[in-house]
Amino acid sequence: MPPHRAVLCFFFLWIAGISAQASPVALDLSQQGGQLTDFTVEYFIDDFQSLDYEAIHKQAFRETTSTTTLGTRATVTWYRVALHNPGAESRSLFLHLPKAYHVRSIDVFEERADNLVDQASVDLNDASDHPLMYRGTVVYPFTVPSGETTSLYVRSHVYSHQWFSLKIYDDEQSRKALVGGHLDIALLVGMMLALVFYNGLLYFATSKKENIFYSLYLISGLVWIALSYGLIAKAFNAYGDAVFVLNLSLITMPIFLILFMMAIFETRKFYPTEHRILQGMLALLVVTFSYGLFDIAMALKPASSLAALMMVVTFSVSISLFRKGHPLVKFFLVGHTFFVVFNGFAVIYYKGLIEPSYINSHGVGIGIVLEALTLAFIISYRIKVLEDIRSRQGELKRQAATDPLTRLYNRRHFMTEGEYMVEQARAAGQSLSVIALDIDHFKAVNDTHGHNIGDLVLMNMADIFRQFSRDQDLVARFGGEEFVILLPGADYAEARGYAERIRKAVQAQSVEGVDGSGVRVTVSLGLTEVNAAMESVESAVNRADKALYEAKASGRNCVCYFEAVACG
Ligand code: GH3
Ligand code: MG
Ligand code: MG
Repeated sequence: MPPHRAVLCFFFLWIAGISAQASPVALDLSQQGGQLTDFTVEYFIDDFQSLDYEAIHKQAFRETTSTTTLGTRATVTWYRVALHNPGAESRSLFLHLPKAYHVRSIDVFEERADNLVDQASVDLNDASDHPLMYRGTVVYPFTVPSGETTSLYVRSHVYSHQWFSLKIYDDEQSRKALVGGHLDIALLVGMMLALVFYNGLLYFATSKKENIFYSLYLISGLVWIALSYGLIAKAFNAYGDAVFVLNLSLITMPIFLILFMMAIFETRKFYPTEHRILQGMLALLVVTFSYGLFDIAMALKPASSLAALMMVVTFSVSISLFRKGHPLVKFFLVGHTFFVVFNGFAVIYYKGLIEPSYINSHGVGIGIVLEALTLAFIISYRIKVLEDIRSRQGELKRQAATDPLTRLYNRRHFMTEGEYMVEQARAAGQSLSVIALDIDHFKAVNDTHGHNIGDLVLMNMADIFRQFSRDQDLVARFGGEEFVILLPGADYAEARGYAERIRKAVQAQSVEGVDGSGVRVTVSLGLTEVNAAMESVESAVNRADKALYEAKASGRNCVCYFEAVACG
């Protein structure tokens, strides 16, 4: 044979080799448990989307597995599988396309001995009532007569990703396959819904924007999970363009994640550089989202590049905030790492680089849920931080209102609180009394025993007040060794009884001095009833002071009251 003829011959043999149909799959369903779920199929990507059933026979098919992902460029792909029935009886079988819910259209051609024996088309825009559509799965019935081979050609036209699965079942397995499934995804979605609800409630409790952004992020995530795992198709029997638009959730998810980051890390206020970077990313996403409102398929094309950029931005910003010592950002980094790692598994799986497994085929869902749970933890941690700040503020307020030595209220707090108590007594028509009290010859205690013992006497005095006072009484150290007590509900007689009890208790007590001797003090007290209808707390205190002055003048260790300036 001349050399050029040999080359030609080889060329034709080569062409014949790749376009020749692969050997048919032998049907032995009783051995195969009534189902064929993992077998070799052939595919051809129709780049120009122009070939019909006749024309496709001339094309060179390649081999792949019955569950496959061919990326975003395989918009129109033809699949082919030949099934041979070596048995004595004809077999009635069902071809299932369980991922049919997210395509644009499906065409099935059934061929025997090079003749087209049957065909069907499902336009997903009009599939809700289609006899071959069952809750997201296209079910095509076909037969393989005894000793014959049936070839099935399936044309799959997708919106974005060529993500496809073919399964073959007998009657019983077909019915079983259609009822089960998706429990795990429903669980994930349910969990996220609970988090959405809880964060809605948190927003009402705290009015913090991050709860709203987090809820919207969760809603985007759960819509996308429900959509891509076919839960929406199953639950609502809805497909086509109207449902495909929900893929916008893939863009709203990072938008709300960025808004969440801005809110929870308070970037606008404290980290202007990081804030500007996040704003830039946000602007890019908003533009893509707006574009997606008009052409969602086009908007999704750069999705993986955008996702990669998003990860670079969020990681850089988080690491920068971490280095600046933000207390919450480390948790965010952990959550975001979960998201990236599990989505990484999913991407590698979608590209067909690793064997399918539960983890990688559910990577996106698992990643979103793990991140969502970590973000929920950040929210609760931040509530704790805000609570700590509030309680520290409460402590500061308490410190501002009290005297550090005796832990009694100070003059300033007494005046404001006392004014309020006078108003209350006025409104309730109740009596109210005030007592001014001063330690007798206190200077001598300091001079004899030292300042520390003087302090001990003051603290001891405060304990006596606490012991003899009711919860509603307002006891304050006005300064030095002078105290004022407001007794709501007490008329002159009751107040006098109280004053006497205090006077006697002080007289009876002693504090151990430096030399071991007991240091005893006495107190003088001035008391008056407050004329709540007519006067302020200040004027009543002045009157009590005058009575106290009288008590000092009349020899100390006694109680004087104002009206008659009487002492006893
Ligand atoms: P009188 O019976 O007239 O009230 O005589 P007195 O000595 O108690 O009155 P005076 O106002 O002359 O002295 C009050 C003393 O109280 C003077 C001051 O050293 C002392 N003092 C004021 N604040 C404190 C304090 O916080 N600790 C101690 N240890 N002493 C104080
Ligand atoms: Mg004194
Ligand atoms: Mg004094």
